[in-house]
Amino acid sequence: MSAETVPQASTGYAGSDAAFTRLGRSVPQSVNSGVRIRRGRTPFFASASGIMLTDVDGNRFIDTIMGYGPVLFGHGEPEILRAVHEQIDRSVICGAESARTAEVAERLIDWIPCAERIIFSSSGSEAVQAALRVARAATGRHLVLRFEGHYHGWVDPMHTNAAGTPAQRRRPAASGIDVQPNAIGQNDVTAQIVVTHWNDVGAFDAAVSAYADELAAVIMEPIPFNAGTYRADPGYLEHVREVCTRRGIMLIFDEVVSGFRAGRGGAQELLGVTPDLATFAKAVAGGFPLSAVAGSAAAMAPLVDGRLRHAGTYNANPVSIAAAEATTRLIASTSDLYTRMESTGSRLAEGLRSLASGREVPLRVNQIGSVLQLFWSAQGGLRDYASCSSSNSAVMSAICEGMLDFGVFSNGRGLMMLGYRHEPADVDRVLEAFALSLDRVLREVGDAVCGVHAA
Ligand code: PMP
Repeated sequence: MSAETVPQASTGYAGSDAAFTRLGRSVPQSVNSGVRIRRGRTPFFASASGIMLTDVDGNRFIDTIMGYGPVLFGHGEPEILRAVHEQIDRSVICGAESARTAEVAERLIDWIPCAERIIFSSSGSEAVQAALRVARAATGRHLVLRFEGHYHGWVDPMHTNAAGTPAQRRRPAASGIDVQPNAIGQNDVTAQIVVTHWNDVGAFDAAVSAYADELAAVIMEPIPFNAGTYRADPGYLEHVREVCTRRGIMLIFDEVVSGFRAGRGGAQELLGVTPDLATFAKAVAGGFPLSAVAGSAAAMAPLVDGRLRHAGTYNANPVSIAAAEATTRLIASTSDLYTRMESTGSRLAEGLRSLASGREVPLRVNQIGSVLQLFWSAQGGLRDYASCSSSNSAVMSAICEGMLDFGVFSNGRGLMMLGYRHEPADVDRVLEAFALSLDRVLREVGDAVCGVHAA
């Protein structure tokens, strides 16, 4: 393919640049979520349809991030929009439950292995907070074991030891890894959490032994999409499951990304390991704000018997529930959803790898289903947080953000999420844009910086 086949940003970016400057006068840094901060230009989108985004200047881009996960099908998916429009015409919020919530709840309980009971809220961070509270209530214990690099939202105890800039180093941990808040202004959470390495049986056993009867929960991304996108060694998750069961600790899978994306029963279905509790958000409602905590009847007992009450003005609001009902109906009726997303993801991963080997550049690609994580690293086989985070993020950002000029919108840290509506030809256009951006970066910053031939 030639450069002409790739949609080029032709009308300039004056509108986006002006929107960015204007927003920055009222909204700090011109963003409402830190992940939207880019090293280069920030586009402002006027509309989205299918897999295409159109910015305020009229430039069109193939989307490779799909709202950071919620858009499993396409932007403006007709069935979802129809359901939402119908609901909006009837009511938006009434301060009471809507009858349709049972349809969604029953479908999710049917699909998700750990789910016997379910509660809804609006964002992933809230669901994680609720799951931890349920686990503490169910066990009567207070400590939570988490894993370095896994992301669980921005609530204080969980906004720690994840990708990004550690804010400060607090009290060293007695076992495992020092607790590192990710933001200034956070509470001291060292008394609430223990941090250790994921996919390391020895580190896990040591952390559990050190805190034995204090641990209420172990929380993890069962596939750490935020820490590099790779799988645990065979037997690791089973080991964690067995230890949690034996020690009376609640195992929580944070399936905010993997839920409905890795499979309709989440990563727990794909991997064959069932937690006690699991959190979901993003893809469940096709872009509308809805999250959930699902769990076994035993884990959810404090809610079932009424000792613990869940709260939230927007919880299970009728519009998000209508969106979730339509999205889950679409998931149910799309028999090739996961096979197709896997083949789209592997087409892109293979294409990127062959681009890299043709140029002898140290581009590494981890891929599971529709999610890809790209790294610029001389090291191969990146399957742990330390090696993933030692990769060269500046070069990766320059290439990924640079695709904007060649008609592709991508996240600056090398994360890509594709959807069911991406066609093989779209993947080829992304590859073309990636090659153009890569070659430009190589020309501009040179072999020395990019570590060409370093692989
Ligand atoms: N858990 C995981 C695994 C996530 O990826 C995210 C968001 N990226 C969250 C929790 C927090 O979700 P939200 O941004 O909706 O609060």
